[in-house]
Amino acid sequence: MDRRICIYSNNTDQSRSTEELLRKCFEREGITAEIVPSDKTDLLVVIGGDGSMLDAIHKFDFPTFPVIGINTGHLGFFQELAAHQVGMFIERYEAGKFNIQESSVVEAEVFLDGRQEKLKGLNEIVIRGTQSYSTHLNISIGDSFIENFSGDGILVATSSGSTAYNYSVGGAIVDPRLDVLQVTPIAPMNTTAYRSFTSSLILPPELSLEIVPQYKRDVLLYVMNDGIEHRYSNVTRIKVSFSPAKVDLLRFDSYDFWNKVKTKFL
Ligand code: NAP
Repeated sequence: MDRRICIYSNNTDQSRSTEELLRKCFEREGITAEIVPSDKTDLLVVIGGDGSMLDAIHKFDFPTFPVIGINTGHLGFFQELAAHQVGMFIERYEAGKFNIQESSVVEAEVFLDGRQEKLKGLNEIVIRGTQSYSTHLNISIGDSFIENFSGDGILVATSSGSTAYNYSVGGAIVDPRLDVLQVTPIAPMNTTAYRSFTSSLILPPELSLEIVPQYKRDVLLYVMNDGIEHRYSNVTRIKVSFSPAKVDLLRFDSYDFWNKVKTKFL
């Protein structure tokens, strides 16, 4: 069967040599290597680290075909394979010995004066002030008003993003088989002056979060999707929810999420 595999690679020496090796294997197996995906693409291979995985997912606008990562980055949490496993990858892929891990995507609808913008994140959406001032956000979950948050900002992580920024700011690591959104406060103030939750809140997929900024010093906000910064002024509200988009990560039988957590974090 004619297979078409798109390769996205960062520009390090190790990534370039891994790409060369991969192209040779593809040639031997009669697989067509693409630089940009087409409507016939079967798979996207990302060579690099998690940063490259996020770059590729955004560059190709959350592709509907599966994605696999070969790690030549620093951490490589999304990445399924090490660079020396290229031969094994082709063999198992051609034999159909793989599974698909469906990863949820979070989206923010940002309402501005007279227009709105949608941002998607595989890891997370972050809402925070643009300067060192505290940020004040009225937060509702579903139809219920929950709190007036005060602090640096809030982060809404997917399960697969729970091991990234979310974890650094005290959020929980969530097994990616659980479809939840985790709302984690960033430096919340919890005093007699301001009352904010200090731990993460976990939401089911059908609930969304409504955020109405309260401006005290300036009218600027950053909304970040997977570290990509968008600066807005006079945002009226932001709705954060699950996106209909999904990212299908290709995994082999040896993949074990908790073993990965142990080897990468402990
Ligand atoms: P980046 O330098 O590309 O990434 C920062 C680190 O996060 C890298 O070591 C990266 O791994 C790792 N990473 C990314 N996604 C991960 C995941 N799902 N699980 C575990 N580790 C993950 O930073 P960036 O370009 O600013 O933003 C990309 C992502 O980095 C964001 O989505 C955010 O989650 C994370 N980030 C973390 C912090 C923090 O922890 N304080 C601050 C800003 C951003 P590789 O080395 O393999 O690329």
